[in-house]
Amino acid sequence: MGVSIRRSLRLEDLLQRDVYDVDEKPHIEIPRGRDAQEGLPAKALALLCPAGCYTLTPSGELIFSYEGCVECGLCRVVSPKGKIRWEYPRSGRGIVYRFT
Ligand code: SF4
Repeated sequence: MGVSIRRSLRLEDLLQRDVYDVDEKPHIEIPRGRDAQEGLPAKALALLCPAGCYTLTPSGELIFSYEGCVECGLCRVVSPKGKIRWEYPRSGRGIVYRFT
């Protein structure tokens, strides 16, 4: 009979294993101010970004910080086309995943 080892890892634990080489040039930019952000799915971005890069303020403005981005692309997919500028970080920068 084999031995079964169950481990449960939280997303936060997994992300802490990764290494970031943050590019000083933001690879994602969003409009600033509530008026300019009209049409962005603010609540969805604040709830769904796995790295917590989006914060919705009490006034309804979306605050964004790109430094912890895991480059999943979710915000690009759920936002209207052209509303945010999304690129991968410049070569060699950004997140380096560790799978061990
Ligand atoms: S690409 Fe993913 S991790 Fe990065 S800001 Fe967008 S939703 Fe968050």
